[in-house]
This record gives sequence, structure tokens and C-alpha cells, in this order.
Amino acid sequence: MNVIIFGPPGSGKGTQSQNLVNKFDLHQVSTGDLLRLEIKEKSEIGKKIEKIIEQGDFVKDNIVNELLNRVITNPKYKNKIVFDGYPRNINQAETLEVMLNSNNQSINFILFLKVSREIIEKRILGRIICEKCNKTMNEYFNEKEIVNHECGKNYLKKRKDDNQAAIITRYEEYMAKTKPVLDFYSTRSYFHEIDGNQKIQVIKGKIEDILKV
Ligand SMILES: [Zn+2]
Repeated sequence: MNVIIFGPPGSGKGTQSQNLVNKFDLHQVSTGDLLRLEIKEKSEIGKKIEKIIEQGDFVKDNIVNELLNRVITNPKYKNKIVFDGYPRNINQAETLEVMLNSNNQSINFILFLKVSREIIEKRILGRIICEKCNKTMNEYFNEKEIVNHECGKNYLKKRKDDNQAAIITRYEEYMAKTKPVLDFYSTRSYFHEIDGNQKIQVIKGKIEDILKV
């Protein structure tokens, strides 16, 4: 099966895609990773990408598509792909279908983790880390755990780099950019909107139920 997963920053999309990879033996594809890998390997295309990024430009669709096509046509990954953070626009969505179809593949599931801005704010702003054992907790969701934490209160610190305005901007930008792509897919029978406001384990179970059918 090939899966596309959408979700704003803080929706737990990364965790859920990782779980899909492990549970269903899939291969996660993020275009950011593909670009970084080319740069790291100093391939011809990687050198081009590095130049573009250095100049502060966006990497054009044709480069991204070429890298994606290599993954799609790789027999190792046939019908085993989780697309994470892709497609970002309708043009990319259409190209993706053409690339899959010409390789006798299709998209089998499209998942959208729908999370409210309030929950995302709480998830990110409520994050507390224990400086002694490195455990991460959340002041809104793990009250009991925090009170009973074995290392004691003194080690529990909030992260300072999480700022509310930046979180809101990131969320609004993501939703605005992604809306046309979601609209493009939303009438398909294999499009699933998932309530991402719930606990990670609950979401995980729901996704697995959808994919098992
Ligand atoms: Zn601790």
C-alpha cells in the first residue's frame, strides 16, 4: 500500500508515520530528507540543490519530482511508501499520481490528522523536560506524572524556544497552504480525516484500523 499523511506541525505526524513504517513495513519518504541526502552524498543533483538553497531559493518541483520518481520506480519500495509532507500543492498532487500510475501503483490511503490550534499550542508550550533523566512530559496532559516524577520537581524545566506566536503562525501557514490539496483529495473514498486531538496511542489505533481493512 502507498499512504499519504498530512498534519500540521505538532500533530504527531512524524510519530504516526514512523509507526506505519514499523507496523506495515513501509518506507517513509519526505522530500526534505531526499534533498538533504543528495547534498550529503554530493551527487550532481545534490550540488545543484545546495547552490539553490545557498541562494535562498526554493528547490523547484522538477528536481523534487525527479528524486521522488527514483523512489517510486525503485522495486524495493514498490507499494510500500508513506509520503510525509508531500504533496504540498495541487500541481505536485497531480504529478504524483502520474508518476505512480505510470509505474502501476496508486495511492491507497490518504490520512489527515486534524488537530485544533489550541491542542497544538498546549502540546508544544506545555512540554516539560526532566534535566536529570531526560523524560519529556506535558503540564497539560501529564499532571499526575509530573507531581509523582521520581527525580523531583527541581529538575523539571520548560523549553524556552517554544514561542506561542511562532507556533500559531506555523499552524496557520500550514493549514492555508494545505487546504487546496486536502480539498483536492477530500472526495475520494480513501481519504480519511482523523481526530488528531486525541492521545497518540488512540490515534495510532485508529490509523491501524483504517489501514488493516
Ligand atoms: Zn527525571
